[in-house]
Amino acid sequence: MLEKSEILFNLNIVKENIENACKRVNRENDVVLIPVTKTFPHELIQTCIELDIEEVGENRPLEIRDKYELYHDQVKIHMIGHLQTNKIKYIGGKVVLIHSLDSVKLGNELNKYASKNDIVFECLVQVNIAKEEAKFGISENNIIEFLKEFEKFENIRIMGLMNMAPFYDNSEDARNDFKKMKILFESLKNEKFKNVQMKYLSMGMTNDYVVAVEEGSNMVRIGSAIFGTRTYL
Ligand SMILES: *Cc1c(COP(=O)(O)O)cnc(C)c1O
Repeated sequence: MLEKSEILFNLNIVKENIENACKRVNRENDVVLIPVTKTFPHELIQTCIELDIEEVGENRPLEIRDKYELYHDQVKIHMIGHLQTNKIKYIGGKVVLIHSLDSVKLGNELNKYASKNDIVFECLVQVNIAKEEAKFGISENNIIEFLKEFEKFENIRIMGLMNMAPFYDNSEDARNDFKKMKILFESLKNEKFKNVQMKYLSMGMTNDYVVAVEEGSNMVRIGSAIFGTRTYL
């Protein structure tokens, strides 16, 4: 794990890159940075707290449960990875936003859990804009139909969209996907579905966040650029 001073150094570079990307395209910097602490030991969250980081991204339900236990009064946790329905119980009430809503089945199970426990899940719809076979996410063509299904789920609020670009050698290659995401995001703002609003467009990771911000992302999920490489995935 990196030293606190190294993390602070990296964090400032990332923030500066986001600021500069916004300036280049003449937009206000309203980008929410979610440092991704997944797979790192919980001590890293303590370091984050000392660096005034208020929100972190995690993708393993059991890790979320354990880290929540230790730090929930000091940091907010985002669930950014694929969620299996049998793991909902570990994260229920413990995450502020689920970025990876990728099926009606998951929505249905989240809603059941939430209504039973008298909570609300805020979620982003993961969109598979590059139409990758092996990737989770709703296709652009099915999104209207998908959102309509959520009008009946009273304990779910859809807050926007999330995208994970394929791994490209050159981040410029992701630009077209991000453009398409932004167009979709803006067009859905004009649709009025119950329980749905388009507030967050979560796209951009270590390799491509600068391009994502230039194309209109307002939430980036960044791990290795801040915390160094993960030793296991
Ligand atoms: C791990 C992960 C990230 C962060 O990845 P880095 O390349 O380390 O920035 C972002 N989003 C999701 C969904 C992830 O699983």
